Amino acid sequence: MSNEKPKVAFYWCASCGGCEEAVVDLHEKILDVVAAVDIVLWPVALDFKKHHIEALKPKEIAVAFINGAVRLSEHEEWVKLLREKSGLVVAFGACAHLGGIPGLANYTTRDEILANKYHRAVTVDNPQKLLPQTESKVNGYALELPALWNDVRPLDEVIEVDYYLPGCPPPVDLIVAAVTAILKGELPPKGTVIGPLKSLCESCSLNSTKPEKMAIKEFKRVATSTPDPKTCFLAQGYVCMGPATRSGCGERCIKGNMPCRGCFGPTPEARDQGTKFLSSLASMLEAKTEAEAQAVADTIVDPVGTFYRFSLPKSLLRRRRVKT
Ligand code: SF4
Ligand code: SF4
Repeated sequence: MSNEKPKVAFYWCASCGGCEEAVVDLHEKILDVVAAVDIVLWPVALDFKKHHIEALKPKEIAVAFINGAVRLSEHEEWVKLLREKSGLVVAFGACAHLGGIPGLANYTTRDEILANKYHRAVTVDNPQKLLPQTESKVNGYALELPALWNDVRPLDEVIEVDYYLPGCPPPVDLIVAAVTAILKGELPPKGTVIGPLKSLCESCSLNSTKPEKMAIKEFKRVATSTPDPKTCFLAQGYVCMGPATRSGCGERCIKGNMPCRGCFGPTPEARDQGTKFLSSLASMLEAKTEAEAQAVADTIVDPVGTFYRFSLPKSLLRRRRVKT
């Protein structure tokens, strides 16, 4: 029997780096992980190269933790390589799980994003209307850049995923539980989202202040008013995604006097987090007519960014349809 430690890879695609911070947040527990495994890839911390991974045998890596959505040709190449070389792939965090915040780019198009960034931004001086090219020649050298895809995709739209660790970022206790289960071989069924099955409302400390029947007259924003920290946010008129969001985060936002934005994704029975929330919201408005209901709904600023903040690419909508 081999005495070799299991090989583990960490990789990041379109993400903010918060998931890497979550691994660092393991603090001294990371020493247990390092003692138990052989880290073969971790671009944010260690200098391994692509050819090191290409040289490995198929499935030689025990588990690859991949965070971030798939946005660039480079992301796609890497995740396909890691899939080939790994026994297990874990979608780590909201962006790999659902598309995450980068997934809100599906509300527009690649061409619009590039035009805004390189042609319209007031700080840009670009009279020739140049755009980044995937190949260019500079002083006789061929330079390459990854291609930017039009769609942001969750990881499981590009490769097969074995498990999902939800959250923006996943909390330390869930990471430790997942790593321990994998190292001990005590694995849940393939496809499991590692986290509780209940909704956030069910574990929320403010649940006792949530009335049976809501009567929301208008929606408020934390940007322009301060919620009462002892009362259910929805009851106060702040959009709180708790009813449609999986629990397991430790109510991090609620404890910080912020409504839930939904980073843990939908509850297990819901296919689409935004639709699930909207269907419950409809019965919470204080309105007798369609026009009154519309007037209350109109007080929600940025509905897509509110109801699909973390899940647009994984939702039934997937993206905004744009005429080409
Ligand atoms: S709506 Fe939000 S604040 Fe109210 S009980 Fe649910 S999670 Fe808690
Ligand atoms: S309260 Fe909601 S948005 Fe905040 S960490 Fe928990 S699941 Fe994510």
